[in-house]
Amino acid sequence: MHAERRPFIGGNWKMNTDLASGVELADAVLAALAAAGVEESVDAAVYPPFPYLFTVGRTLGHSAVLLGAQDCSADVSGAFTGQVSAGMLCDVGCRSVIIGHSERRHGLGEDDELLHEKLAIALESGLVAVLCVGETLSERDDGRAEAVVAHQLRGCFGTLKAETVERVVVAYEPVWAIGTGRTASPEDAQAMHASIRRVLADLYDSRFAARTRIIYGGSVNAKNARAIFDGPDIDGGLIGGASLKADDFASICRAAAEAWSAAGGH
Ligand code: PEP
Repeated sequence: MHAERRPFIGGNWKMNTDLASGVELADAVLAALAAAGVEESVDAAVYPPFPYLFTVGRTLGHSAVLLGAQDCSADVSGAFTGQVSAGMLCDVGCRSVIIGHSERRHGLGEDDELLHEKLAIALESGLVAVLCVGETLSERDDGRAEAVVAHQLRGCFGTLKAETVERVVVAYEPVWAIGTGRTASPEDAQAMHASIRRVLADLYDSRFAARTRIIYGGSVNAKNARAIFDGPDIDGGLIGGASLKADDFASICRAAAEAWSAAGGH
């Protein structure tokens, strides 16, 4: 953590919960965050499945927890069967969206060109865009991890102007660490986050790089979170499995708050 960047913790519920248990989880998250006393020091967000957004949003009410979606269309409207636009997400109360999760990059073939379009439209709509990047295991084994991630960043940011990218949170999620129980070591995660920050400085400028939050995702849990968050370029986490348990999610938020406070944040 770094004192100047407030931690961001997102809970990616993926294709889990049903309507009733999603509402229960949202309720429990609010209660657990209040009990953990972290509302003042962490930006927390939850990303339920599309059909539950509106109802979960009502449960979140006027709390500080951001409602987010797991994806959005690259188009504004029209003949795109099954797609959901960024504007529609805003209509149902979303304030954030995940772009380019590896389960979409690799499972559904989304490439940087498409993700650039999605990022542009999400930002234009006023959403906080959590842009995911990360290498596969073979890319890491070949020593190409930083180059792959830099290429993804350049492709996704593309021609976006500095003033439009203020609301981006970059999520570094090594593909081999997502849902596997295997996390990047705190040292490897920190090294990659520092590399991402250098790419952002090169794409825009050092001030933009210094204020942009770069969060880590990949099997973060209540036990390993603090060691990861102590990295000076690690500004929080995107949490999958552990976000489905309100107490674990709140413990991860507390780890972020403690790491931030230890770094001099408040
Ligand atoms: C994710 O879905 O972005 C993720 C990091 O999942 P998990 O925490 O389960 O590895």
